[in-house]
Amino acid sequence: MPIHVLPDTLVARIAAGEVVERPASAVKEMVENAIDAGASDIRVECAEGGRALLRVTDNGSGIRADEVELAFTHHATSKLSTDEDLTRIKTLGFRGEALASIASVSIVTCATRHADETTGTLIRFDNGRIVQHDKIGRPAGTTMTVENLFARVPARLKFLKSNQTERGHIDAIVTRYALVYPSVRFSLVHDGRVTFQTQGSGRLRDALAQTHGAEVAERLIPIGEMARDDDAHDMDMPEASIEVSGYASLPTLDHNNRSKIQLFVNGRPIQDVKLSYAVIQAYHTLLMVGRYPIAVVMIRMPVEDVDVNAHPAKAEVRFREPEAVFSAVQRAIRRELLARMAPPEPPSVLSTVDLPGLSRPEAPVDPNAPIEPGWSAGAGQWPAPRDGSAYTAPLHGSGSWERVGIARQSQGGEFSAASPANTGPMPTRSLPALRILGQLALAYVIAEGPEGLYLIDQHAAHERVLYERMLAQRELGPVVSQALLDPLPVQLPADSAWRVEENLPVLRDLGFDLEAFGANTWLVRAVPPMMAQDDIAAALREIAGDLESGDAPLRRDIEARILRRVCKRMAIKAGRVLALSEMQALVRDLEACESPRTCPHGRPTMLQIGVGQLEKQFGRLG
Ligand code: ADP
Ligand code: MG
Repeated sequence: MPIHVLPDTLVARIAAGEVVERPASAVKEMVENAIDAGASDIRVECAEGGRALLRVTDNGSGIRADEVELAFTHHATSKLSTDEDLTRIKTLGFRGEALASIASVSIVTCATRHADETTGTLIRFDNGRIVQHDKIGRPAGTTMTVENLFARVPARLKFLKSNQTERGHIDAIVTRYALVYPSVRFSLVHDGRVTFQTQGSGRLRDALAQTHGAEVAERLIPIGEMARDDDAHDMDMPEASIEVSGYASLPTLDHNNRSKIQLFVNGRPIQDVKLSYAVIQAYHTLLMVGRYPIAVVMIRMPVEDVDVNAHPAKAEVRFREPEAVFSAVQRAIRRELLARMAPPEPPSVLSTVDLPGLSRPEAPVDPNAPIEPGWSAGAGQWPAPRDGSAYTAPLHGSGSWERVGIARQSQGGEFSAASPANTGPMPTRSLPALRILGQLALAYVIAEGPEGLYLIDQHAAHERVLYERMLAQRELGPVVSQALLDPLPVQLPADSAWRVEENLPVLRDLGFDLEAFGANTWLVRAVPPMMAQDDIAAALREIAGDLESGDAPLRRDIEARILRRVCKRMAIKAGRVLALSEMQALVRDLEACESPRTCPHGRPTMLQIGVGQLEKQFGRLG
C-alpha cells in the first residue's frame, strides 16, 4: 500500500481509542463534564452494560447555542487557553477531546440549554457526522445520549467483556465520583432499575454509606483532616501543602484484594500503585498477609505540584514530590490506627520459659456458650470417641523441625510454615493417631504422637474438616438448602452486588436462595444448613467480596472460594473452651482428612515439635 494520509474519520477513531476504551470511559468523560459544568444533580442511565445506551443528564451550566457544534470538535475546550493554564488545571477536563472522540464512535445526541439563554439546542452525530441540529425548549443543563457505542468499530467491540463486566466498570466510575463529590446528587440506572443513589448531602460519610453499604461505612474511621475535628494531633505537619483526608478501615475490617483502596487527588480519582502501597504500609503488621484495608483517601495539594496530563484517560498523575505524598498518606492513616489501638504483643512461642506468650485471646470466652451449629455440620453430630484406642507414644521419637516444615524465625521467636525451599518431604495425607493432652490458650489442642508434641490450631483444623466435608457433599450434587423463617433483605455495596447476580447459579448450587430485591439488595430465602444460625448479612457481604477478586475465574474456583468462606465462618473460633471429647472428635476428623496439615487457605493447622528437638532444647543432647 502506498503511503497516504488517513481520512479524518479514521484519524478520529484512532484517537478515540485513547480516550474511550469502553462504555465506562465514556461515562467518566461525561460525568466529568457535568461536574466541570457545576452540576449538583447527575443522572447516569445505561442499557446492556452501556453498549446499547448511555445517557448522562446534568443540571449544570449547559452549553451556549453557538458553541454546541464546536464542543464536538477535536481540541475544543472552554477550560484551557494558554500554556501556563496547563500547569494549573483545576477542572477535570482540559483536552477538549472527549466529546469529539465519543461522537466519532457512536451515535451521540446532545440536548442542552445554557442557563443564560432561552432556547436550547439539540445536535445529533452519527459516527462523526452531524445528522441533526435543531432549536429546542428544555430546562437549563445538558443531556448527552450515546447509542450503539463502537458499533462501527469492530476492533474495539471485540474487546468489550460481558454486559455485567462493563456494568461493573461503570459502577466503579460512578461510585468513585460520588465519593469525591459528595455534594452532588448522583443516580445510576441500569436497564431501567435504579442501582445506586446518593443524597448529595455534602458529607463523605453519607456517600460512603451508599458506596460501601451502611455497615461498612460505620466502621471506617476518619483520617487526616477528617480526623482533626475530634482530635488535636495536628502538631507535626511538615507536608503542610499536602492535605490528606478521608476514611480508612481499622484492622478488624479488611478485604481480600486492594480494590477497596481508593485514591483521589484534587477531586480526581487516580490510580497509583505506589500510593496504594503507602496505604497498605500504614497497616504494617496490623493486617494478616494477603489481607488489604478499605480506604478512601482524598489528597489536596497545590495544582502546580501535580501533573494531571500524564495519561490519556487522566487516570494516572505525576507528583512533583512523590515521596512527600507517599509519607503524608501513610502517616495520616497510621496515626489514626495507632491512636485507636494498643500495639499487638509480639508473639513469642516456646522460648522455653515464655510459653504463656502464646496466648491469643481473639474472642470473648464464655465457657457456657452453646456449641455453634457449624460444629455438628454435615455429619450431624460429633462421632462418639472410639474406645480403647488411646494412643501411647514411645518415649523417644525421631521427629525434627525439618520433617514437618516448620521454620523458626530469627525475630521474635515466631513460628511459621516454611517456604517450599526448606520444607522437605511433608506428608500431606496420613496424620498418625494422636493422644489429646489438653487445650492451650483456648486456641490450640495439645497432643502427643509418634513424632513428639503436636499443637493443633483448633480453628484452622475445624476449617479443614468442614471444607473437606462440604466438598464431599458437593460431589454428590447441589447442597440442600435450609429455608429461613423470615427471608432477610441484605444490601450490598454497589460494586459487589452485581457479582452476586452474576454468580447466582453457583450460589444456588451451594444452598443459597437469593432473590433480587431493589437497589443492590438481595432477599435471602435459604442458606446452606450449617449457616442457618450465622450472621447472614455479614456472610453474604464477605462472599460478595470474595467474588470480586479475579476476573471470571473458573466456576470450580468460585465454588471453592465460597466454600472456604463458609467454612471459615462456621469453624470454631479461638477462645472457645473445648471438652476432651470435642478435641478427640476434632482431631479424629482431622486425621481422616485428605490434607490434614493445612487449612483450606493453605496455612498450617498444626505445629509439630520432635522429641529430639525437645531433648536438644533441654540440653540433654550435645
Ligand atoms: P474538555 O472537557 O476537555 O474541555 P470535552 O470534549 O469533554 O472537553 O468537552 C468540550 C467542551 O464542551 C467543554 O470544554 C465544555 O465547555 C463543553 N461541555 C461538555 N459537556 C458539557 C456539559 N455537560 N455541560 C456544559 N458544558 C459541557
Ligand atoms: Mg471533558
